[in-house]
Amino acid sequence: MNIYDTIKNISFFENRDLQHGIDSTTNVLNRRIIKEYIDFLIKNNICFSMCLLDIDNFKLINDNYGHNKGDILLEYFANRLVNTLGKHGAVARYGGDEFIVIIEGDISYDSLWHIMHSATKNIEDIFFDEQKNVKITQSVGVVRFPIDANNYDDLFEKADKALYRGKSKGRNCFIIYLKEKHDNLVFGHKNASLYNSLDTHAKIFSFLTNYEKNLTTRIKELITFIKMALSIDQISIQGLEKIIVSETFNISGPSKINYLDVKEINDLVDDYGVFYFNTLDSSKLNSNLINFFKDENINSALICKIDVFEHYYGLVRFEMVKGRIWQPHDLDVALTISKTLGVVLSHLNNYRF
Ligand code: GH3
Ligand code: MG
Repeated sequence: MNIYDTIKNISFFENRDLQHGIDSTTNVLNRRIIKEYIDFLIKNNICFSMCLLDIDNFKLINDNYGHNKGDILLEYFANRLVNTLGKHGAVARYGGDEFIVIIEGDISYDSLWHIMHSATKNIEDIFFDEQKNVKITQSVGVVRFPIDANNYDDLFEKADKALYRGKSKGRNCFIIYLKEKHDNLVFGHKNASLYNSLDTHAKIFSFLTNYEKNLTTRIKELITFIKMALSIDQISIQGLEKIIVSETFNISGPSKINYLDVKEINDLVDDYGVFYFNTLDSSKLNSNLINFFKDENINSALICKIDVFEHYYGLVRFEMVKGRIWQPHDLDVALTISKTLGVVLSHLNNYRF
C-alpha cells in the first residue's frame, strides 16, 4: 500500500494535484497539504481525529548510524505508518521525526483506542538493527475535532500535550487527550520548569537534606515528587535486608514489591552503580531476575546502588509495568537520589537502613 492508495477514497484529495503535496524523503503527504486538509475539515465542520506521532530517541539513530541512515529509517517508518494507520486515514510528515495521521469521522474514544492499540502493536516489531537489538518505537498524542478543540492551534497544543505526556510516561505509547485528565497538565512541554533538569536535581537535594523531618518522611515526599516528574509506576528504596519505603502509583499495575537480593545485581551494575533494562526479554537478565520481575508484573526497571565510598546501603528501584526506554535524564535522577542518600546515610551514625 502506498500513500495514493490510502487517500483515494478521501473526497478532499479527489482530483487534487499532489505534485507539490508529497514529502520527498518519506513519500507521504507533506506539511502544507495536511494543513490544507485540516483547515478544510474544520471549516466544513467535519469530525476527525488527529494523531501526532514522534519517533522515540531518533537523535540516537542519527548519532550512531549517521544522518543518511536516519533518512532511510524515516522513509521506512513512514511506509509502515501508511500500512498500519493509512487504511484509516491520511498520513503526513509534519517535519523532522514528527508525523500526523488524520482520521475522518466521528469516532468514539473506545474505537480510537482500539485503532491506536493495534497500530502500536504493528509498529513494535520494526527492527532497525537486528544484531544490536535496536528497535524503533513511537509516542503518539491524539485529539478529536470538535470535542477537544475547535481550531487548528488549540488542536495542536492539546495533541502536543498528550504526546509529551506519552514521552514522560516512558515513550512507546499513545495518549488520547481527555479534558478531565490532561487539561490541567502544566508539564505538557519539554521545556516546562518541572522538566528543567537543574530544578529536579535541586529538589532532590532539598528533600533529602531537610533535617527538620525524619528520613523516612523525607524519602516519602521525594518519591511522590519523582513519581510526578518522571511518571514511574513503582518506586522503592531498599536496604541490604529489607524494603524501607515503596510506593506503587499505577493502579492497574503491580500488586506487590519483593525484596531484591542485592547480590543479584552486584555484577550487573556499571561503574556508577547503575543497572537498567528496557524490556524483560532483554539479554541483560538471568532467569532468576526474569522470574523475580515477572512475579512483580514489571517489564522495565532502573536500579541504582546507594553507596558512598566503601559503604553500601541498598538500592533505589524505579520500575514500570510496561517497557520503558530509560532516558539519560531518568538515569541522572536515579543517580542523584542514590548518591545523595548515600551521603545522608553516612552522616547518620548507627543508622540501620
Ligand atoms: P524523543 O524521544 O524525545 O522524541 O527524542 P528524539 O531523539 O527523537 O528527539 P526529537 O524528536 O526532539 O528530535 C528529532 C531529531 O530528528 C532531531 C534531528 O536531529 C533529527 N532530524 C530531524 N529531521 C531529520 C531529517 O530529515 N533526517 C534525519 N536523518 N534526521 C532528522
Ligand atoms: Mg523524536
